[in-house]
Amino acid sequence: MTDSRNWRPATQAVRAGQQRSPHGETAEALYLTSGYAYDDAAQAEATFKGEIAHYQYSRFGNPTVTMLEGRLAALEGAEACRATATGMAAVHAALACQVKAGDRVVASRALFGSCHWIVSTLLPRYGIETEFVDGADLDQWRRALARPASAVLLESPSNPCLEIIDIRAVCTLAHAAGALVMVDNVFATPLLQRPIELGADVVMYSATKHLDGQGRVLGGAVLGSAKWIGETLQPFIRNTGPSISPFNAWVLLKGLETLPIRIEAMQRNAAAIADFLATRPQVARVLYPSRKDHPQHGLAMRQMLGGGTVMAFELRGGKAEAFRAMDALRLIDISNNLGDAKSMVTHPATTTHMRIGAEERAKLGISDAMVRLSVGLEDVRDLTEDLGAALDAIDARQAAE
Ligand SMILES: *Cc1c(COP(=O)(O)O)cnc(C)c1O
Repeated sequence: MTDSRNWRPATQAVRAGQQRSPHGETAEALYLTSGYAYDDAAQAEATFKGEIAHYQYSRFGNPTVTMLEGRLAALEGAEACRATATGMAAVHAALACQVKAGDRVVASRALFGSCHWIVSTLLPRYGIETEFVDGADLDQWRRALARPASAVLLESPSNPCLEIIDIRAVCTLAHAAGALVMVDNVFATPLLQRPIELGADVVMYSATKHLDGQGRVLGGAVLGSAKWIGETLQPFIRNTGPSISPFNAWVLLKGLETLPIRIEAMQRNAAAIADFLATRPQVARVLYPSRKDHPQHGLAMRQMLGGGTVMAFELRGGKAEAFRAMDALRLIDISNNLGDAKSMVTHPATTTHMRIGAEERAKLGISDAMVRLSVGLEDVRDLTEDLGAALDAIDARQAAE
Protein backbone atom coordinates (compact mmCIF):
# COMPACT_ATOMS: atom_id res chain seq x y z
CA MET A 1 0.00 0.00 0.00
CA THR A 2 2.97 2.28 0.63
CA ASP A 3 3.58 3.06 -3.03
CA SER A 4 -0.01 4.10 -3.83
CA ARG A 5 1.02 7.73 -3.27
CA ASN A 6 3.33 7.56 -6.27
CA TRP A 7 0.67 6.21 -8.60
CA ARG A 8 -1.06 8.52 -11.05
CA PRO A 9 -4.63 9.54 -10.12
CA ALA A 10 -6.31 7.10 -12.51
CA THR A 11 -4.46 4.22 -10.83
CA GLN A 12 -5.16 5.53 -7.33
CA ALA A 13 -8.86 5.88 -8.17
CA VAL A 14 -9.04 2.17 -9.01
CA ARG A 15 -6.63 0.63 -6.54
CA ALA A 16 -5.52 2.87 -3.66
CA GLY A 17 -6.70 1.86 -0.22
CA GLN A 18 -7.83 -1.63 -1.14
CA GLN A 19 -7.21 -4.23 1.54
CA ARG A 20 -7.98 -7.76 0.46
CA SER A 21 -9.32 -10.29 2.92
CA PRO A 22 -7.76 -13.79 3.08
CA HIS A 23 -10.24 -14.78 0.35
CA GLY A 24 -8.42 -12.67 -2.23
CA GLU A 25 -11.56 -11.05 -3.64
CA THR A 26 -10.84 -8.80 -6.65
CA ALA A 27 -13.42 -6.14 -5.80
CA GLU A 28 -13.45 -4.23 -2.53
CA ALA A 29 -15.33 -6.25 0.10
CA LEU A 30 -18.46 -4.80 1.67
CA TYR A 31 -18.21 -5.29 5.42
CA LEU A 32 -21.82 -4.59 6.32
CA THR A 33 -21.30 -4.98 10.04
CA SER A 34 -21.87 -2.67 12.96
CA GLY A 35 -19.63 -4.52 15.44
CA TYR A 36 -16.61 -6.81 15.76
CA ALA A 37 -15.84 -9.85 17.93
CA TYR A 38 -12.65 -10.36 19.93
CA ASP A 39 -10.71 -13.62 20.38
CA ASP A 40 -10.76 -13.16 24.15
CA ALA A 41 -11.38 -10.57 26.85
CA ALA A 42 -7.73 -9.56 26.93
CA GLN A 43 -7.85 -8.69 23.22
CA ALA A 44 -10.87 -6.46 23.86
CA GLU A 45 -9.01 -4.78 26.72
CA ALA A 46 -5.88 -4.23 24.62
CA THR A 47 -8.03 -2.81 21.82
CA PHE A 48 -9.73 -0.29 24.10
CA LYS A 49 -6.38 0.66 25.60
CA GLY A 50 -5.14 1.37 22.07
CA GLU A 51 -2.35 -1.19 22.40
CA ILE A 52 -3.45 -3.15 19.33
CA ALA A 53 -5.29 -2.19 16.16
CA HIS A 54 -8.63 -3.97 16.00
CA TYR A 55 -11.97 -2.69 14.76
CA GLN A 56 -14.31 -1.97 17.69
CA TYR A 57 -17.53 -0.54 16.37
CA SER A 58 -18.49 0.90 12.98
CA ARG A 59 -19.16 4.35 14.43
CA PHE A 60 -15.38 4.54 15.01
CA GLY A 61 -14.18 2.59 11.99
CA ASN A 62 -15.10 -0.12 9.47
CA PRO A 63 -12.89 -1.94 6.95
CA THR A 64 -14.91 -0.84 3.90
CA VAL A 65 -14.89 2.75 5.16
CA THR A 66 -11.13 2.47 5.80
CA MET A 67 -10.63 1.47 2.16
CA LEU A 68 -12.58 4.53 0.99
CA GLU A 69 -10.57 6.76 3.32
CA GLY A 70 -7.31 5.32 2.02
CA ARG A 71 -8.34 5.85 -1.60
CA LEU A 72 -9.44 9.44 -0.99
CA ALA A 73 -6.27 10.28 0.97
CA ALA A 74 -4.09 8.96 -1.87
CA LEU A 75 -6.03 10.94 -4.50
CA GLU A 76 -5.84 14.11 -2.40
CA GLY A 77 -2.20 13.72 -1.42
CA ALA A 78 -3.35 14.02 2.21
CA GLU A 79 -1.92 12.12 5.16
CA ALA A 80 -5.29 11.06 6.51
CA CYS A 81 -9.01 11.01 5.77
CA ARG A 82 -12.24 10.41 7.65
CA ALA A 83 -15.36 9.67 5.65
CA THR A 84 -18.72 10.97 6.90
CA ALA A 85 -22.40 10.35 6.23
CA THR A 86 -22.87 13.52 4.16
CA GLY A 87 -20.90 16.50 2.92
CA MET A 88 -22.55 18.65 5.57
CA ALA A 89 -21.51 16.19 8.28
CA ALA A 90 -17.94 16.63 7.00
CA VAL A 91 -18.05 20.43 7.08
CA HIS A 92 -19.81 20.51 10.45
CA ALA A 93 -17.43 18.00 12.05
CA ALA A 94 -14.34 19.79 10.71
CA LEU A 95 -15.46 23.15 12.11
CA ALA A 96 -17.03 21.90 15.33
CA CYS A 97 -13.99 19.86 16.36
CA GLN A 98 -11.68 22.81 15.75
CA VAL A 99 -13.42 25.76 17.43
CA LYS A 100 -14.56 26.62 20.94
CA ALA A 101 -16.40 29.51 22.60
CA GLY A 102 -14.49 32.78 22.19
CA ASP A 103 -12.82 31.71 18.93
CA ARG A 104 -13.21 33.46 15.59
CA VAL A 105 -14.06 31.94 12.22
CA VAL A 106 -13.61 33.84 8.96
CA ALA A 107 -15.37 32.53 5.86
CA SER A 108 -15.95 33.47 2.26
CA ARG A 109 -19.49 34.68 1.67
CA ALA A 110 -20.11 32.51 -1.39
CA LEU A 111 -20.63 29.21 0.43
CA PHE A 112 -22.97 26.29 -0.14
CA GLY A 113 -26.23 27.24 1.63
CA SER A 114 -25.91 24.91 4.63
CA CYS A 115 -22.23 25.83 5.14
CA HIS A 116 -23.34 29.47 5.21
CA TRP A 117 -25.97 28.56 7.84
CA ILE A 118 -23.40 26.82 10.04
CA VAL A 119 -21.17 29.91 10.00
CA SER A 120 -23.87 32.59 10.16
CA THR A 121 -26.36 30.91 12.53
CA LEU A 122 -25.06 27.82 14.31
CA LEU A 123 -21.53 28.77 15.40
CA PRO A 124 -22.59 32.11 16.96
CA ARG A 125 -25.02 30.16 19.20
CA TYR A 126 -21.98 28.54 20.79
CA GLY A 127 -20.18 31.81 21.40
CA ILE A 128 -18.04 31.75 18.27
CA GLU A 129 -17.54 35.03 16.46
CA THR A 130 -17.91 34.67 12.70
CA GLU A 131 -17.18 37.05 9.87
CA PHE A 132 -17.87 36.80 6.14
CA VAL A 133 -15.67 38.36 3.46
CA ASP A 134 -15.93 38.61 -0.31
CA GLY A 135 -13.69 35.70 -1.20
CA ALA A 136 -12.18 37.29 -4.29
CA ASP A 137 -11.17 40.47 -2.41
CA LEU A 138 -7.80 39.88 -0.72
CA ASP A 139 -8.03 43.22 1.13
CA GLN A 140 -11.12 41.97 2.95
CA TRP A 141 -9.29 38.76 3.92
CA ARG A 142 -6.33 40.87 5.09
CA ARG A 143 -8.56 43.05 7.29
CA ALA A 144 -10.50 40.10 8.73
CA LEU A 145 -7.32 38.16 9.44
CA ALA A 146 -5.51 41.06 11.09
CA ARG A 147 -6.96 39.62 14.33
CA PRO A 148 -6.42 36.02 15.49
CA ALA A 149 -8.79 33.37 14.14
CA SER A 150 -8.98 29.63 14.66
CA ALA A 151 -10.47 28.59 11.33
CA VAL A 152 -10.97 29.90 7.81
CA LEU A 153 -13.61 28.27 5.61
CA LEU A 154 -13.72 28.83 1.88
CA GLU A 155 -15.21 27.32 -1.26
CA SER A 156 -13.47 27.72 -4.63
CA PRO A 157 -14.85 27.60 -7.27
CA SER A 158 -17.98 28.72 -5.48
CA ASN A 159 -21.58 27.74 -5.99
CA PRO A 160 -23.24 29.02 -8.15
CA CYS A 161 -21.16 31.92 -9.54
CA LEU A 162 -17.88 30.00 -9.97
CA GLU A 163 -15.98 32.64 -8.02
CA ILE A 164 -12.32 31.76 -7.57
CA ILE A 165 -10.42 32.42 -4.34
CA ASP A 166 -6.64 32.75 -4.28
CA ILE A 167 -6.11 29.79 -1.95
CA ARG A 168 -2.36 30.27 -1.59
CA ALA A 169 -2.68 33.96 -0.64
CA VAL A 170 -5.52 33.32 1.83
CA CYS A 171 -3.52 30.49 3.44
CA THR A 172 -0.57 32.82 4.06
CA LEU A 173 -2.83 35.41 5.72
CA ALA A 174 -4.76 32.77 7.68
CA HIS A 175 -1.68 31.03 9.00
CA ALA A 176 -0.28 34.35 10.23
CA ALA A 177 -3.56 34.78 12.16
CA GLY A 178 -3.20 31.30 13.65
CA ALA A 179 -6.07 29.81 11.66
CA LEU A 180 -6.46 26.42 10.05
CA VAL A 181 -7.63 26.78 6.43
CA MET A 182 -10.51 24.50 5.44
CA VAL A 183 -11.42 24.25 1.76
CA ASP A 184 -14.72 22.91 0.45
CA ASN A 185 -13.35 21.40 -2.77
CA VAL A 186 -16.59 19.93 -4.13
CA PHE A 187 -16.67 21.79 -7.44
CA ALA A 188 -13.06 21.05 -8.41
CA THR A 189 -12.72 17.46 -7.09
CA PRO A 190 -9.26 16.18 -6.08
CA LEU A 191 -8.45 15.77 -9.76
CA LEU A 192 -8.69 19.44 -10.74
CA GLN A 193 -7.48 21.23 -7.61
CA ARG A 194 -5.23 20.16 -4.73
CA PRO A 195 -5.73 22.67 -1.92
CA ILE A 196 -3.14 21.05 0.39
CA GLU A 197 -0.43 21.77 -2.20
CA LEU A 198 -1.62 25.39 -2.17
CA GLY A 199 -1.19 25.57 1.61
CA ALA A 200 -4.60 24.49 2.94
CA ASP A 201 -4.78 22.38 6.09
CA VAL A 202 -8.12 20.63 5.68
CA VAL A 203 -10.06 19.65 2.54
CA MET A 204 -13.73 18.67 2.64
CA TYR A 205 -16.00 16.94 0.16
CA SER A 206 -19.58 16.21 -0.40
CA ALA A 207 -18.98 12.75 -1.88
CA THR A 208 -22.63 12.90 -2.94
CA LYS A 209 -21.52 14.99 -5.91
CA HIS A 210 -18.80 13.90 -8.36
CA LEU A 211 -17.27 11.17 -6.17
CA ASP A 212 -20.43 9.08 -6.44
CA GLY A 213 -21.49 11.01 -9.50
CA GLN A 214 -24.32 8.63 -10.31
CA GLY A 215 -26.99 9.96 -7.99
CA ARG A 216 -27.06 7.02 -5.59
CA VAL A 217 -25.75 7.84 -2.12
CA LEU A 218 -24.93 10.68 0.25
CA GLY A 219 -21.42 10.86 1.65
CA GLY A 220 -18.67 13.19 2.75
CA ALA A 221 -15.01 13.31 3.62
CA VAL A 222 -12.54 15.37 5.63
CA LEU A 223 -8.84 15.21 4.76
CA GLY A 224 -5.81 16.66 6.50
CA SER A 225 -2.70 15.87 8.48
CA ALA A 226 -2.53 12.58 10.39
CA LYS A 227 -2.10 14.57 13.61
CA TRP A 228 -5.15 16.81 13.18
CA ILE A 229 -7.37 14.01 11.86
CA GLY A 230 -6.26 11.62 14.60
CA GLU A 231 -6.19 13.95 17.58
CA THR A 232 -8.82 16.60 16.79
CA LEU A 233 -11.32 15.21 14.28
CA GLN A 234 -11.40 11.51 15.18
CA PRO A 235 -12.51 11.98 18.83
CA PHE A 236 -15.29 14.27 17.60
CA ILE A 237 -16.52 11.79 14.99
CA ARG A 238 -16.16 8.84 17.34
CA ASN A 239 -18.25 10.46 20.04
CA THR A 240 -20.84 12.36 17.98
CA GLY A 241 -21.47 9.79 15.24
CA PRO A 242 -21.63 11.41 11.77
CA SER A 243 -20.22 8.12 10.45
CA ILE A 244 -20.89 6.84 6.93
CA SER A 245 -22.68 3.56 6.28
CA PRO A 246 -20.29 0.85 5.00
CA PHE A 247 -22.72 0.29 2.16
CA ASN A 248 -22.48 3.91 1.03
CA ALA A 249 -18.70 3.79 1.41
CA TRP A 250 -18.63 0.75 -0.85
CA VAL A 251 -20.77 2.50 -3.49
CA LEU A 252 -18.36 5.46 -3.32
CA LEU A 253 -15.32 3.18 -3.70
CA LYS A 254 -16.81 1.83 -6.91
CA GLY A 255 -17.76 5.38 -8.00
CA LEU A 256 -14.19 6.57 -7.50
CA GLU A 257 -12.91 3.96 -9.98
CA THR A 258 -14.47 5.93 -12.83
CA LEU A 259 -13.98 9.43 -11.39
CA PRO A 260 -11.03 10.41 -13.62
CA ILE A 261 -12.72 9.37 -16.87
CA ARG A 262 -16.04 10.88 -15.79
CA ILE A 263 -14.46 14.22 -14.85
CA GLU A 264 -12.50 14.32 -18.10
CA ALA A 265 -15.56 13.64 -20.23
CA MET A 266 -17.90 15.90 -18.25
CA GLN A 267 -15.38 18.74 -18.30
CA ARG A 268 -14.90 18.37 -22.05
CA ASN A 269 -18.66 18.59 -22.51
CA ALA A 270 -18.87 21.56 -20.13
CA ALA A 271 -16.18 23.56 -21.90
CA ALA A 272 -17.90 23.03 -25.26
CA ILE A 273 -21.30 23.96 -23.84
CA ALA A 274 -19.95 27.11 -22.16
CA ASP A 275 -18.60 28.24 -25.54
CA PHE A 276 -21.88 27.35 -27.22
CA LEU A 277 -23.98 29.28 -24.68
CA ALA A 278 -21.75 32.34 -25.03
CA THR A 279 -22.71 32.55 -28.73
CA ARG A 280 -26.46 32.53 -28.08
CA PRO A 281 -28.25 35.89 -28.30
CA GLN A 282 -30.48 35.03 -25.31
CA VAL A 283 -27.46 34.62 -23.02
CA ALA A 284 -26.04 37.77 -21.41
CA ARG A 285 -22.99 36.10 -19.89
CA VAL A 286 -21.47 32.73 -19.07
CA LEU A 287 -19.43 32.08 -15.93
CA TYR A 288 -17.03 29.18 -16.48
CA PRO A 289 -13.48 29.26 -15.08
CA SER A 290 -11.56 28.08 -18.15
CA ARG A 291 -13.19 30.68 -20.43
CA LYS A 292 -11.02 33.74 -20.99
CA ASP A 293 -13.93 36.05 -20.10
CA HIS A 294 -14.21 34.59 -16.57
CA PRO A 295 -13.33 37.50 -14.24
CA GLN A 296 -10.60 35.43 -12.54
CA HIS A 297 -9.54 33.29 -15.46
CA GLY A 298 -5.80 33.71 -14.79
CA LEU A 299 -6.05 32.72 -11.13
CA ALA A 300 -8.38 29.83 -11.97
CA MET A 301 -5.91 28.38 -14.45
CA ARG A 302 -3.00 28.82 -12.00
CA GLN A 303 -4.62 26.79 -9.25
CA MET A 304 -6.90 24.43 -11.20
CA LEU A 305 -6.25 21.93 -13.96
CA GLY A 306 -9.44 22.77 -15.84
CA GLY A 307 -12.76 24.57 -15.70
CA GLY A 308 -14.70 21.73 -14.09
CA THR A 309 -18.16 20.41 -14.80
CA VAL A 310 -20.42 23.24 -13.56
CA MET A 311 -21.18 26.65 -15.02
CA ALA A 312 -23.63 29.48 -14.49
CA PHE A 313 -25.17 31.61 -17.19
CA GLU A 314 -27.31 34.67 -17.11
CA LEU A 315 -30.15 35.17 -19.56
CA ARG A 316 -31.26 38.48 -20.99
CA GLY A 317 -34.37 39.14 -18.92
CA GLY A 318 -35.23 37.81 -15.48
CA LYS A 319 -36.91 34.98 -13.65
CA ALA A 320 -39.59 34.53 -16.31
CA GLU A 321 -37.02 33.99 -19.06
CA ALA A 322 -34.99 31.62 -16.87
CA PHE A 323 -38.07 29.54 -16.02
CA ARG A 324 -39.19 29.48 -19.66
CA ALA A 325 -35.82 28.16 -20.82
CA MET A 326 -35.63 25.58 -18.03
CA ASP A 327 -39.18 24.37 -18.65
CA ALA A 328 -38.43 23.96 -22.36
CA LEU A 329 -35.57 21.52 -21.73
CA ARG A 330 -36.47 18.02 -22.88
CA LEU A 331 -33.31 16.13 -21.88
CA ILE A 332 -31.55 18.06 -19.12
CA ASP A 333 -33.20 17.63 -15.72
CA ILE A 334 -34.29 20.41 -13.39
CA SER A 335 -32.52 19.37 -10.19
CA ASN A 336 -30.49 21.09 -7.48
CA ASN A 337 -27.93 18.26 -7.47
CA LEU A 338 -24.64 18.54 -9.35
CA GLY A 339 -21.63 16.54 -10.42
CA ASP A 340 -23.87 13.80 -11.79
CA ALA A 341 -23.65 11.71 -14.97
CA LYS A 342 -27.00 13.28 -15.88
CA SER A 343 -26.93 16.97 -16.81
CA MET A 344 -28.99 19.20 -14.52
CA VAL A 345 -30.04 22.82 -14.30
CA THR A 346 -31.21 24.77 -11.32
CA HIS A 347 -32.40 28.33 -10.73
CA PRO A 348 -30.30 29.30 -7.68
CA ALA A 349 -32.33 32.38 -6.72
CA THR A 350 -35.49 30.32 -6.08
CA THR A 351 -33.92 27.06 -4.88
CA THR A 352 -30.41 26.57 -3.45
CA HIS A 353 -29.98 30.26 -2.61
CA MET A 354 -33.60 31.16 -1.82
CA ARG A 355 -33.15 31.18 1.95
CA ILE A 356 -30.22 33.61 2.08
CA GLY A 357 -32.50 36.43 0.91
CA ALA A 358 -32.39 39.01 -1.88
CA GLU A 359 -29.81 41.24 -0.22
CA GLU A 360 -27.24 38.48 0.25
CA ARG A 361 -27.97 37.18 -3.27
CA ALA A 362 -27.25 40.64 -4.66
CA LYS A 363 -23.91 40.69 -2.80
CA LEU A 364 -23.05 37.33 -4.35
CA GLY A 365 -24.12 38.33 -7.85
CA ILE A 366 -26.93 35.77 -8.03
CA SER A 367 -29.58 37.38 -10.21
CA ASP A 368 -33.06 36.14 -11.06
CA ALA A 369 -31.84 35.58 -14.63
CA MET A 370 -29.10 33.17 -13.56
CA VAL A 371 -29.22 29.43 -14.28
CA ARG A 372 -26.65 26.92 -12.98
CA LEU A 373 -25.82 24.01 -15.26
CA SER A 374 -24.06 20.84 -14.13
CA VAL A 375 -22.88 19.03 -17.23
CA GLY A 376 -23.04 15.25 -17.36
CA LEU A 377 -21.90 12.42 -19.57
CA GLU A 378 -24.50 12.57 -22.33
CA ASP A 379 -23.42 13.19 -25.93
CA VAL A 380 -22.54 16.87 -26.11
CA ARG A 381 -24.51 17.21 -29.37
CA ASP A 382 -27.72 16.16 -27.63
CA LEU A 383 -27.01 18.59 -24.79
CA THR A 384 -26.34 21.58 -27.05
CA GLU A 385 -29.41 20.79 -29.14
CA ASP A 386 -31.53 20.65 -25.98
CA LEU A 387 -30.10 23.93 -24.65
CA GLY A 388 -30.33 25.67 -28.02
CA ALA A 389 -33.98 24.70 -28.44
CA ALA A 390 -34.76 25.76 -24.86
CA LEU A 391 -33.19 29.20 -25.42
CA ASP A 392 -35.10 29.61 -28.68
CA ALA A 393 -38.28 28.77 -26.78
CA ILE A 394 -37.85 31.98 -24.75
CA ASP A 395 -38.08 34.02 -27.96
CA ALA A 396 -40.97 31.94 -29.28
CA ARG A 397 -42.98 32.56 -26.11
CA GLN A 398 -42.12 36.25 -26.19
CA ALA A 399 -43.19 36.53 -29.83
CA ALA A 400 -46.48 34.80 -29.04
CA GLU A 401 -47.27 37.09 -26.12
C1 LIG B 1 -23.60 19.50 -1.80
C2 LIG B 1 -22.57 20.34 -1.20
C3 LIG B 1 -22.32 20.30 0.18
C4 LIG B 1 -23.13 19.44 1.12
O1 LIG B 1 -23.01 18.09 0.85
P1 LIG B 1 -24.16 16.99 1.19
O2 LIG B 1 -23.55 15.71 0.77
O3 LIG B 1 -25.38 17.39 0.42
O4 LIG B 1 -24.40 17.08 2.65
C5 LIG B 1 -21.34 21.13 0.69
N1 LIG B 1 -20.63 21.95 -0.11
C6 LIG B 1 -20.84 22.02 -1.45
C7 LIG B 1 -20.04 22.94 -2.27
C8 LIG B 1 -21.82 21.21 -2.03
O5 LIG B 1 -22.03 21.29 -3.35
